[in-house]
Amino acid sequence: MELRFQPFSLRLKFPFQTAHGRRTATELVLCSLHLEGFTGHGEASMPPYYGENTESALRFLQKSVPLLAEISDAFFDIEEIMHNIDALEVGNSAAKAAIDIALHDLLGKISRKPVWEVLGADPDKMPPTTFTLGIDTPEVLEKKLEDAADFQILKVKLGTESDDKKIIETLRQFTQKPILVDANQGWKTPEYALDLLFWLAENNVFMIEQPLPKNDFKAAAWLTARSPIPIIADESFQRLADFDAVADCFHGVNIKLMKSAGLNEAWQIAKKAQEKGLKTIMGCMSETSCATLAAAQIAPFCTVADLDGPWLTTNNPYKMPVLKHGKIQLSTADGLGLESAGNSED
Ligand code: MG
Repeated sequence: MELRFQPFSLRLKFPFQTAHGRRTATELVLCSLHLEGFTGHGEASMPPYYGENTESALRFLQKSVPLLAEISDAFFDIEEIMHNIDALEVGNSAAKAAIDIALHDLLGKISRKPVWEVLGADPDKMPPTTFTLGIDTPEVLEKKLEDAADFQILKVKLGTESDDKKIIETLRQFTQKPILVDANQGWKTPEYALDLLFWLAENNVFMIEQPLPKNDFKAAAWLTARSPIPIIADESFQRLADFDAVADCFHGVNIKLMKSAGLNEAWQIAKKAQEKGLKTIMGCMSETSCATLAAAQIAPFCTVADLDGPWLTTNNPYKMPVLKHGKIQLSTADGLGLESAGNSED
C-alpha cells in the first residue's frame, strides 16, 4: 500500500486559552493510504504540549513508507502492522495514529463495512458529546454558548490561579447544562482541589479531568478516594501500557487517538476500562472530521464523548460529523464515513 501525506494548518474559531497558554491554529498532517483502488484517510494532530510537531510527524511518516509499501494483501492485519509501526521508533503517537486511522478507514472500505461494525460497537450506545468552552469574557462566553445549542453537555477549562469559581458562576448566568471540567493540572494541592470539587459538584459539574500535576499519582489517589465526582486521568495517561498504573489512582481515563497511537490501542483501553468498571472519556485534540469520526467509532464503549474538535475550527476540509440530540451519529457508510466538504477555502 502507498502512503501519502501533507501538512495542514487547522485554524481555530476562537483562540484557545488553557492552563498551557493561548493559540490560534493547530498543526496537522493529513495522510492517505492507497491499495487496490481504495483510499483510507488518516490524520495526526499535534498540539504543542505533546512534544510532536509537523517536522517530526513528516519524518516519521516518511520512515513508515517502506514498511507499508510491502503490504499488498487486501486482508491485512491492523494489529500486526501497528505493532511493526510502533517498533520503528518510540513516541510519535500522533503520526502513528494517522497511519492507524487510515488503515481502519481503508479496511472498512475494502470489506464494505463501517469501522464501528468491524470493531463491534453499538451506535445506539453512543454517549453525548461535550462542547468545549475556553476561558473568556462573559460576552464571548455567551456567543460561544450559541454554538453549543445542539450539545447536551459542556466542557470547561479551569485551573486558573483564582478565577475558577468566577468562570463557573458567569457560565451559570447563561446555562444550566451539566459541565465536565478540565483543570489541565492547574490545581497544586489535593486539599485545594477537594474543596473546589465539592463546590463544583453543587454547581452541576459531573466529572473532572486532570485536576493535579500529572506525575503526582499519590495526590490523585488521595483525591479520588474523597471526591464527590469522578476524577479522570488525561495528561497522567497516554497508552495501554500505562493503564494499570492509573487504574488504582483515578476513577477513569481520557482516551485520545493522538495519545494511544490510534484506534487499535484506544479500543483495547476502552474494553479494559469497561472490564475494570472504570469510566472513560473518548477525547480529541483540535482535529478535522477525520480523526473525530475515527474516535466516534469506539465512543459507544465509553462513558462520555469529548469529540467537538471540528466544531471549534474554521477550515475543516471534510463534512461535519452529524449531531443529533447532542450525540454524534455513526454513519452506515463503509470505513469512517468521511466525506470531503467540497468547498475547502484553502
Ligand atoms: Mg484534558
